[in-house]
Formats: sequence, C-alpha cells, structure tokens
Amino acid sequence: MPTPPHQSTLDLATRLKVHAHRCTVLTRRAISPSLVEIVLHGHAADLVGAPGNDVMVHVDDATDTPTRRRFSVRSVDEVADTFTLWISTTHEGPGARWARTAAPGDTVDIVGPRGKIPVDAVADWHLFVGDVSSLGAFYRMADSIEVPGRAIFIVETDDPADALTAPFDEGLGVTAIFVDRAGRAHDDATGLLSGLAAFTLPTDEGHAYLFGEFHVMRAVKTTLLDRGLRAEQISLKAFYRVGQANGANGEPSKDL
Ligand SMILES: Cc1cc2nc3c(=O)[nH]c(=O)nc-3n(C[C@H](O)[C@H](O)[C@H](O)COP(=O)(O)OP(=O)(O)OC[C@H]3O[C@@H](n4cnc5c(N)ncnc54)[C@H](O)[C@@H]3O)c2cc1C
Repeated sequence: MPTPPHQSTLDLATRLKVHAHRCTVLTRRAISPSLVEIVLHGHAADLVGAPGNDVMVHVDDATDTPTRRRFSVRSVDEVADTFTLWISTTHEGPGARWARTAAPGDTVDIVGPRGKIPVDAVADWHLFVGDVSSLGAFYRMADSIEVPGRAIFIVETDDPADALTAPFDEGLGVTAIFVDRAGRAHDDATGLLSGLAAFTLPTDEGHAYLFGEFHVMRAVKTTLLDRGLRAEQISLKAFYRVGQANGANGEPSKDL
C-alpha cells in the first residue's frame, strides 16, 4: 500500500476542495542553466487540472511546519500517469533546494490542482510575458491554443541558454522574444519592458498572461494598459517577490 500524504496535506486539500496525493519522483534533470525538470509519478489525472494550473508541493520535510511551494504543470502523460514541472533554481529557498536535490524514488506530498487563470478561448492572440519560472506554465497553455491561433512569448532569461523552445502544433503562429537579464535584479522591469517595446501589439482581440516577479508584472501591466489593452484582457499572477519568501499559501505578499 502506498503511504498516504501527511494529515496536514489532507486537511489543506479538504479546505481547498482539491486532491492530495503522495507522488514519486521519477526523474530530475537540469534542462538549462536555471531550470530543473522534475517528472512525478502517480495520480496525475487528479492533480494536474487545466493548462495554467499548478500544484502545491510539500518541499521541506525537515520541520513539523510544512513548507509548500507552488509550481505550474508543464505537461501531463495520462497513460504513463506522470506530470512534469519546470522549476527555477536561480535563488536560495526551500523550493529551489528541493528541485536541486530531489532524487528518483523520493516521495512528496502534492495538493492540486490550483489556479484560476485559464487560456482565453476566444482570444485571437495570446501574449505571455514572464521569466524562466513561468516558461512551464506558458508552454502548456500555448499547447492548448486551438490552431490557427497566435502565441507571443516575451521572456526574460537569467542565462542565454535558458531560452528553451518547444515544439508546438503546426498552424500555431509563434513569436518568441527572449531578453537576457544581463545581471539586472529580478525586480527590475527594464528588460521585459524593452522586449515589449520591440513588439507591435496586433489590432484584433488578444489576451495577455503576466506571470513572474511581483513588481515587474505590475510594471508590465501598466505598460499594456497604456498601450490600449483593457483590464479584462490581462491576467496577472505574481509568482514571487524579490526580498521575501512566498507565504504559506505558496504566493508572495500582495501588500503595497
Ligand atoms: C501559481 C504559481 C505558479 C508557479 N509556477 C512556477 C513554476 O512552474 N516554476 C517555478 O520555477 N516557479 C513557479 N512559481 C514561483 C515559485 O513558487 C516561487 O518562486 C517560490 O518563491 C519558490 O520558492 P523557494 O522556496 O525556492 O523561494 P522562497 O523561500 O519563496 O524565496 C526565497 C528568496 O528567493 C527569492 N525568489 C523566489 N523565487 C525566485 C525566482 N523564481 N527567481 C528569483 N528569486 C526568487 C525570493 O524573493 C526570496 O528572497 C509559481 C508561483 C505561483 C504562485
């Protein structure tokens, strides 16, 4: 019999009205200088939700107080009962540490699915703006766009070799602008704003998905509003916030 998740994990899932399972690490590998890919086995259909959704991972077993971090689902293989996470390891934190050290055969408590930002089914084009931590979410969301559709990625990388591409359906129009961070701080919006300035927004109806650092995503949203997008065309999710660890809900503080 597989071991059930910790009681606190089961309680959290009950409160959130989602699932809790103990999954097994199948593989872990570095896929770029900043990104680690972890493939988890078990209960995939219960946990992965829709494109754009994430899971809460119990990343630290060392203390009685569970530390959980949220990571987007990059892809799912329902036949193999596996799902894949892409995790940024550019910084120090329990989530990054788990991603660096998880080994095949390790078990980990997962709560999911989480997340409320779906792919806009009627948008003519989809603009994804973020950094390496958002690539997994962006590529799964773009995988679900009906062709012919358009996906535009403006992504800041910590290392030029983080500019990972993905094989999308033939018929999906893809534009990708990777901006090298070039040593700028993670709360400096200059790079993404210059990437955005290099791109002319299409004139038909689109939707922008902004996933990344708290201050940077706010600056990007302001710029997009200034450039004529309506608020309802923009979905923003702060993934982390410079100088602060994420909270017990796996999210950065929203205090101004
Ligand atoms: C809905 C959702 C989905 C997410 N999906 C993903 C995903 O698919 N892949 C992914 O990599 N991340 C994802 N994140 C972000 C991830 O949960 C946070 O980066 C989290 O802070 C990592 O936990 P940690 O324990 O490593 O760092 P924490 O303990 O939270 O923070 C420690 C320090 O590191 C800094 N820090 C945290 N994350 C980053 C970062 N990415 N880059 C630079 N500095 C950082 C903090 O500012 C803090 O100073 C997601 C977040 C949310 C809310």
